[in-house]
Amino acid sequence: MEEKRQGEGLNVKKEENFSDWFSEVIEKAEIVDLRLGVKGFIVIRPWGAQIIENMFEHLEKELQRKGHKPTFMPSVIPKENLTKESEHIKGFTPEVFWLKSIGENQELALRPTSETVYTPMFKLWVRSWRDLPLKLYQRAHVFRLDTKATRPLIRGREFIWIECHDAFASKEEAEKQVQEDIDTTEKVMHQIYGVPFFPMKRPEWDKFAGAEYTVGSDCFMPDGKLIQQPSTHLMGQKFSKAFNAKFKNKEDKEEYLWTTAYGPAVSRILASVIATHGDDSGLILPFSISPIQVVIIPIFTNKNKEEIMEKTSKIKSLLEKKDVKVHVDDEAEKRPGEKYHLWELKGIPFRIEFGEKEMKSDEITLFTRDTKEKKKIKIADLSDIKKMGEEFDRRLREKADDFSKGRILDCNDKKEIKRAIESGKMARVNFCSTEKEGIKCAEAVETQLGGDVRGTLANKDEIPKGDCIICGKPATKVVYIGKSY
Ligand SMILES: [Zn+2]
Repeated sequence: MEEKRQGEGLNVKKEENFSDWFSEVIEKAEIVDLRLGVKGFIVIRPWGAQIIENMFEHLEKELQRKGHKPTFMPSVIPKENLTKESEHIKGFTPEVFWLKSIGENQELALRPTSETVYTPMFKLWVRSWRDLPLKLYQRAHVFRLDTKATRPLIRGREFIWIECHDAFASKEEAEKQVQEDIDTTEKVMHQIYGVPFFPMKRPEWDKFAGAEYTVGSDCFMPDGKLIQQPSTHLMGQKFSKAFNAKFKNKEDKEEYLWTTAYGPAVSRILASVIATHGDDSGLILPFSISPIQVVIIPIFTNKNKEEIMEKTSKIKSLLEKKDVKVHVDDEAEKRPGEKYHLWELKGIPFRIEFGEKEMKSDEITLFTRDTKEKKKIKIADLSDIKKMGEEFDRRLREKADDFSKGRILDCNDKKEIKRAIESGKMARVNFCSTEKEGIKCAEAVETQLGGDVRGTLANKDEIPKGDCIICGKPATKVVYIGKSY
């Protein structure tokens, strides 16, 4: 197939081959560049980085509103820290990048996550209950030696995330934090980025290494596979015991801290944003995170250029006064059609076309990226642009919600489960247990049906009626089974 040039759309249709579509769109829209050629490590280009910056901004604002304070921790972790909590190091050992021959007596690892850096600092910073809660976070790159096939943004050996590490005086407060983290995912990933999720309390065998329990967020990709987005973990007192991190309670007695961790991987959430909203012309970016929210394309001849450009810059300042990010594409070398394709590919929510006809009637032609609707509106009506942006985002979110909601199927036997997951859905079934004793049935789900037990809904108590769909023992849980990335 002949390679299309930038701005000329995509070769692959999203519905026909999501995986190829995704690979094509992230390169053509200049989100990433894979040509550096290091497995699992990618170059994120300015367009991708600007979107990620905007995503960070929303997320950090919400975290700070909820009492988190920023920090920056070292990218390396001494071996004696990383190995302190036994389950933690057991789980992470195969994935750790060790730094060799640095010429000192200390062995260091590139951080895969930072519990073993924050907890020793909690020990120093927290004296008594008065210092609690202590809620910290950092923007960080983390490194995990993933041996499975890597995919840009979806699965890599380095990703960009925020990690929150919080300390509390009681288990109740720590558990409340887990709920608050789920709420943050809802407020930011769902409400702002438009990516719906199912908060799943993971089974015992699938929790974070070192946690008491983990709640992950499962999101559907367009091919029906699930991708894990932010997870939040109740660490309990496991890390504080390993690091001897104590505080004096109100009775002046020493107690171990209760800790939690929350990790939204912004680079991976970007994969969901792209996958969820994009179409056959390219990206569709939510108004809230698009680096350019409105692009203006002036259409002029040599004769009317001055007049058109003057009016264009007036439209630009009108929008800027509304605090909207605007770009004027006045490149003389490119035809308007080429520009339309380029900015559609890049996912800009609104495009303004402004030429002789529009100038005469004091109007603009407005193109809306998701509906592809083109209409003439009065220039003065552009003062409603923010509202139009909100409506744009609401449409994206509702479309994504509809896709997601329709993909849960109640299943009563193995055949039905198999059929459900093979058609890109998640099966809801009765299950014996999500504690250790359920692991045999979970393995059977994997080997016989090709799916994973994702866990139980964390925001709803679902009471099972009947027996485990695999072993036939009385069910204690309603679990969800799907295929995952
Ligand atoms: Zn069972």
